[in-house]
Amino acid sequence: MLKIPNKPDLPIWSYFSDILTIPRPSGKEEKILEYLKKFAAKHNLDCTQDKPGNLLIKKNATKGKEGLKTIILQAHVDMVCEKNADTVHDFDKDPIITLIEEGWIKTSGTTLGADDGIGVAAMLAVLSATDIEHGPLECLFTVNEETGMTGALGLDKNLLNGKILLNLDSEDEGELFIGCAGGIDTTVRYKINYIKTPASHKAYTLFVNGLKGGHSGDEIHKGLGNSIKILNRILWKANYDFDLKLSKIEGGNLRNAIAREAFAEFIIPEDKIFAFNEFLNTEISILKKEYSQRDPGLKIILKELAAPTQVFDKSFQEGLLSSLYACPHGALSMSHNIPGLVETSTNLASIKHIDNNNILITTSQRSSLESAKKDVSQMVESVFLLSGADVSHSGSYPGWSPNTDSEILGITAGAYNKLFGSRPKVKAIHAGLECGLFLEKYPDLDMISFGPTIKGAHSPGEKLHIESSFKFWDLLLEVLKNIPEEN
Ligand SMILES: [Zn+2]
Repeated sequence: MLKIPNKPDLPIWSYFSDILTIPRPSGKEEKILEYLKKFAAKHNLDCTQDKPGNLLIKKNATKGKEGLKTIILQAHVDMVCEKNADTVHDFDKDPIITLIEEGWIKTSGTTLGADDGIGVAAMLAVLSATDIEHGPLECLFTVNEETGMTGALGLDKNLLNGKILLNLDSEDEGELFIGCAGGIDTTVRYKINYIKTPASHKAYTLFVNGLKGGHSGDEIHKGLGNSIKILNRILWKANYDFDLKLSKIEGGNLRNAIAREAFAEFIIPEDKIFAFNEFLNTEISILKKEYSQRDPGLKIILKELAAPTQVFDKSFQEGLLSSLYACPHGALSMSHNIPGLVETSTNLASIKHIDNNNILITTSQRSSLESAKKDVSQMVESVFLLSGADVSHSGSYPGWSPNTDSEILGITAGAYNKLFGSRPKVKAIHAGLECGLFLEKYPDLDMISFGPTIKGAHSPGEKLHIESSFKFWDLLLEVLKNIPEEN
């Protein structure tokens, strides 16, 4: 049992202690769901499970609070399972071992799972309490948030009655989240037209690497180098000035990461090699200067290669390189009501030869505005249609558009101010949250997300700030107390 020195023994800690002992990797949530079902039975609470495995546990209002609006509390039961290479730990069996250090709950070399175990623990503490005032409660425990949000995605559309949802899955105490981005993937396919490699050429590979990369949501506004864009910038110019002929171009990897590495194979006419090398050296110094602050590791390296047997046809190549050049990448607009929030962005994620004759380009777009998400995905589509590609869209999920006039925001900010004497920061994130997906089935939900401070989530350095957990708990209770009557 987790014992917090010099602090009261709140039920949230005993439930968090229990949860630490229960294996719950994403997609393998049977044991924690079993525990929750037993909990509901023990406390005589109504418990329903939907098809993807999400659990809903309901609790009646406390006496005199029956007329309040129903409130939904929500947290995900799964956790990211990461450990250090030298840590012996089986996430399918072993309990998470914690230690308390300088006001933080830490582990020895594994993820802690406070994301989102502390949210789950808070819900259980409210559900089991006899001394907390609240209106009708619906506690939604979602599965598999960390690897695709499939619980939220498949949530039963007849499960919830409440119209207000508190998502307990944020990681900065003192901040209230009121929005997240939706996303869509736009995939581009080219059939390559080849010609036979002409005589009197030399072949090369050009590598672009050493870039930081990063998350295509959280870090899209940082101006980090995109290896595909940098490589293509050189190729596009060399196509016109030095008669460069490509035989291969690849780069990037994950659709939600900024491309860190790319390479192209091509040939140059022998009589243009000297001038091409001069051009390349100039471009390299220009690019290194341009990225010296934000991506100083950039490397661009040319190596000789054995000549390929075929190269891209001229008009195919010009179309491909021009579309890649015109394809937007990065943040496109900023929010007007949340300072510093990227509203809409697009990521040119990867380009791959999927077989001898086809190239696949993956891009992904995000926006907290549904209409802007569609707009930018069509913008990317149009750029590739111009050069004759096949373009398709998939994996669309809705965003959660920030509403600064939201009732639950007013209640939560007021409760925070009353308890702690300061205004919380109101924020939104340019990445996906389960809240965005809930809106698909329940478009009228008024939602807010808050939590204690967690650092290093998803890594073995994950730690939970103790003092902020007490504030989180107090805030939750104060919000429950202040939910208004049903109109
Ligand atoms: Zn989480």
